[in-house]
Amino acid sequence: MPDFDGLLARNRAWSEALRARDPEFFKRLSEQQAPQYLWIGCSDSRVPANQIIDMAPGEVFVHRNVANVVVHTDLNCLSAIQFAVDVLKVRHILVVGHYGCGGVQAVLEKRRLGLVDNWLRHVDDVRREHAEALRTIADPRLRHARLCELNVIEQAANVCQSTVVRDAWERGQPLSVHGWIYSLENGLVHDLGIDVDDTPMLGPCRQQALAQLATPPGDDATARPRPAPAG
Ligand code: ZN
Repeated sequence: MPDFDGLLARNRAWSEALRARDPEFFKRLSEQQAPQYLWIGCSDSRVPANQIIDMAPGEVFVHRNVANVVVHTDLNCLSAIQFAVDVLKVRHILVVGHYGCGGVQAVLEKRRLGLVDNWLRHVDDVRREHAEALRTIADPRLRHARLCELNVIEQAANVCQSTVVRDAWERGQPLSVHGWIYSLENGLVHDLGIDVDDTPMLGPCRQQALAQLATPPGDDATARPRPAPAG
């Protein structure tokens, strides 16, 4: 039996501590939200959006799914993007992958997990598109890290190609799309250098970000990737 009483007690303690610091906090938030950021990340329990960028409730609008995939026919993700861009008017969309992603690992190992395999076909599309580059990486851990990085760049490109984002740029709404990757090993986010402000920038930005990956994957202190059980 899960300890729901314990969870609810933790919730009460959290709420009380927050109100002790800022008595108006929840009242203010209940009246409106005005986040500047939309976070599109992996569902993995180790990659919690608010905590990673140290943001309070109300500061980041979040959409998460397995392997942070952005599919042009996924009404769930598209609706989150549309609401964030058209209604909340966020200024930045962050596509955030992570090293050690179990979804990416399953694709590389061609492992069968069930229904989710169909979802992960979208990551397999990224793998196939970059098969040549991935083949040159002998170490499987580094190949995994590289596919995690490539997946972020391609999913960020998918965000840029959505009608919601293109329409926002067409009407001159300030909005940029970024690609980041998070390391489970040290809690640090690494900027993959894709920052797109309008439609014509997408091609050159994507190419530049891909070219920057010419260095070994998971370099410096940002990652020592390891296989992950899930996510
Ligand atoms: Zn993941």
